Amino acid sequence: MQYISTRGSAPTLDFEGATLAGLASDGGLYLPTEWPRFTEDEIRSMRGLPYPELAARVMKPFVAGSLADDELERLCHEVYGDFGHAAVTPLVQLNEQHWLLELFHGPTLAFKDVALQMLGRLFETFLERRGEHLTIVGATSGDTGSAAIRAVAGLDRVEIFMLHPSGKVSDVQRRQMTTVRAPNVHNLAIAGSFDDAQAHVKAMFADESVTSTLNLGAVNSINWARLMAQVVYYFYAGLQLGAPDRSAAYSVPTGNFGDIFAGYVAHKMGLPIEQLIVATNVNDILHRALRDGDYSAGSTVPTITPSMDIQVSSNFERLLFDVGGRDGGAMAEQMRAFAESKAMQLTNSQREGASALFTSGRADQEETTRALQWAYRNCAQVIDPHTGVGLHAAQQAELGAAVPIVTLATAHPAKFPDAVERATGVRPALPSRVGDLFGREEAMVEIGGDYASARDFVLSNAGANG
Ligand SMILES: *Cc1c(COP(=O)(O)O)cnc(C)c1O
Repeated sequence: MQYISTRGSAPTLDFEGATLAGLASDGGLYLPTEWPRFTEDEIRSMRGLPYPELAARVMKPFVAGSLADDELERLCHEVYGDFGHAAVTPLVQLNEQHWLLELFHGPTLAFKDVALQMLGRLFETFLERRGEHLTIVGATSGDTGSAAIRAVAGLDRVEIFMLHPSGKVSDVQRRQMTTVRAPNVHNLAIAGSFDDAQAHVKAMFADESVTSTLNLGAVNSINWARLMAQVVYYFYAGLQLGAPDRSAAYSVPTGNFGDIFAGYVAHKMGLPIEQLIVATNVNDILHRALRDGDYSAGSTVPTITPSMDIQVSSNFERLLFDVGGRDGGAMAEQMRAFAESKAMQLTNSQREGASALFTSGRADQEETTRALQWAYRNCAQVIDPHTGVGLHAAQQAELGAAVPIVTLATAHPAKFPDAVERATGVRPALPSRVGDLFGREEAMVEIGGDYASARDFVLSNAGANG
């Protein structure tokens, strides 16, 4: 499989190249040149497969040419044999219509482990093959950072610099990053927002002074391999609910549009999907874009769902490119204008293409709290606030009673114990597999919020790993 950039001028790469590159050299994001498609019979034959085997089947067309079948199967068994639940992503029924897909049984208790554990192994495999080293710079609003750090800590060929907005991630999230003590792990707390951190990371990829000395890699959901790994659990849930003969809707707590874009890919591959519901908190640029075609960034408002406190959703570009006719030149121009004015109008084809499958819902703090209370009182399920945003949007969806609606449970409630306790009166305990998180020592450096501070830190500390 070959991969092209959404902005049309970066070189076409194979899966290995796209995985190691992360962001394309023209500032765009990689996508496969075409969507592989399963027949209904092929989908039917996936029913009942254990998660690791399903993962290998779904990913196989995307890695073709870069990983042999047995290599891919071995990786899937290694990665998904090591989760805290034998089903990896169990599907839990709430009532006749509503379901939860629990994606938080990985080492850092959020859905990002599902993809990042795989990405870590892919990096190792490809770098070993090439005899190269990789410096990962990433930005996190909480969950990506800890999952990425856990995925690469201790690897010989990878070093990681993770930027997080100082004071704006939860204690559990921060400790899950800063208590991982490995020589290849660097935690940077920047005086700014998540969007600042993400902008710095993007700027480093475009900065000669960085790229001429370091082989940069990305773990943010701009990395195609992550999205690919997330496609699997849509199939996993869909098959249990009757695919290919019955279609389901999915409500996805959304920030950077990575997780829900994986649902779009599953649909392209032949999984019947009734609707993809983009669930946002009050940072609702996507809700406004899908409703009015107005994609304009405001300033980020802090909420009880920090992993969704995002104004600019990087992966939305992938959708706009794909539904808008795959015109790289036009996309580059649209994104250049957006970078200048922080606002853009979707074209008609983008609006129509998106609205064919996507709807959106928005939850404020009050509505999120009510969703947590509903799940606890009516279904005896303690859910995290991000999942609560998703559940609220699922409950608002205009869908027939016969359509199952799956809310993606993106984090374990114990990652956000204060908000959960305020809503339900229950303080969720950390599962024992995370160990003594609050007893371990933290390591991080505080730096200024400007780009130069971040860049200079990376430049002067990279390579100390060997
Ligand atoms: C990252 C994250 C999200 C948002 O996912 P995107 O792929 O960025 O849209 C939602 N919920 C939780 C708990 C997360 O960690």
